[in-house]
Amino acid sequence: MNDGFLPFAKPFIEDEEINEVVDSLRSGWVTMGPKTVKLEESLAQYTGAKNIVAVNSCTAALHLSLLALKIGKGDEVITTPYTFAATVNSIIHVGAKPVFVDVERETANIDAGKIEEAITERTKAIIPVHYAGQPCDMKEINDIAKRSNLKVIEDAAHAIGAEYGGKPIGHSDNTVCFSFYATKNITTGEGGAIATNDDGAAKMAKIMRLHGMSADAWKRYTNKNSWYYEIEECGWKYNMTDPQAALGLVQMKRLNELRDIRIKYAKMYTNAFKELEGLITPVEKPDRLHAFHLYPLLLKNYDRSEFIQEMSKRGIGCSVHFIPVHLHPYYRRTMGTKEGLFQNAEWFYNREVSLPLYPKMSEADVQKVVEAVKSILGA
Ligand SMILES: *Cc1c(COP(=O)(O)O)cnc(C)c1O
Repeated sequence: MNDGFLPFAKPFIEDEEINEVVDSLRSGWVTMGPKTVKLEESLAQYTGAKNIVAVNSCTAALHLSLLALKIGKGDEVITTPYTFAATVNSIIHVGAKPVFVDVERETANIDAGKIEEAITERTKAIIPVHYAGQPCDMKEINDIAKRSNLKVIEDAAHAIGAEYGGKPIGHSDNTVCFSFYATKNITTGEGGAIATNDDGAAKMAKIMRLHGMSADAWKRYTNKNSWYYEIEECGWKYNMTDPQAALGLVQMKRLNELRDIRIKYAKMYTNAFKELEGLITPVEKPDRLHAFHLYPLLLKNYDRSEFIQEMSKRGIGCSVHFIPVHLHPYYRRTMGTKEGLFQNAEWFYNREVSLPLYPKMSEADVQKVVEAVKSILGA
């Protein structure tokens, strides 16, 4: 198992997580049930959001958020090309049109100063993506949304545990979508959640996550005589399961601790790299806490593929976040996007390499990465 290779990512799963999952299996509740409700309560308490809807992925959370906010055919939704395909696909799935706005070079987050020129009378929502775990310029974005009467759905797949203006991400009047995918800051294997203060949207998302059945229809299993349900909408099958929620419940207890290890390791990287000629370390903007889901390092003039190969030779896995959405064949083919359209996204992508950053790493592992980077750059 331990061949000395440091993988790019690894979940933090200990006996406590395993025991809680086993407890769920022994209880017989293997689909959505009491542990899912407990996880929703835990997330509500942490974020301060009025409602949490747990689902089976952040992709489902984004899709249901758009549906619950009645965004669909003929509508436009603004987001950035510097994200995972899921953000954009969810917009396409409801029949709306994604409209890309370029990112800033400092953070790879949406450039709030460029949003207004992309708004048309069809625009219904903005989906900012908190890239790498650093919150976007939410004050500016919320002001624009208010002026133009737009909804804001935050893609917070990287940002559980991050803070903006002293408040946890999820504590806002926006709809906020989290991911608990295997590599994210906390995991349920696969999973996600919607945070919203809008009771109507939460109710609709709950109906739509389970076939369109009247809210909390799963409760009928707890009551022997309750066989009756009604389908109110044409919904989806997006519910979380209790074994997933069991994992998430223990991860929630560790959330701040795990985040703080990420922040500590990110600082170690930045201290080691900030004086090196050929590198640009992550910029942290004021008034927010970066949750450091990723450590995106920018190479000024070293070939990125060669760098990743050299890291691999030294026993270290790296990755790249993201291949800009507008460069993938599907979007080129269907939306006519092409190279050159979003120059900051492409600038960031051409230089970016994500270093391993997770709490299962030891400080010695961090040091190993630092030494490898230095030796490759000849520093
Ligand atoms: C991981 C990710 C998603 C999708 O999350 P899933 O839980 O895997 O569906 C969405 N947006 C971004 C930015 C992501 O990194």
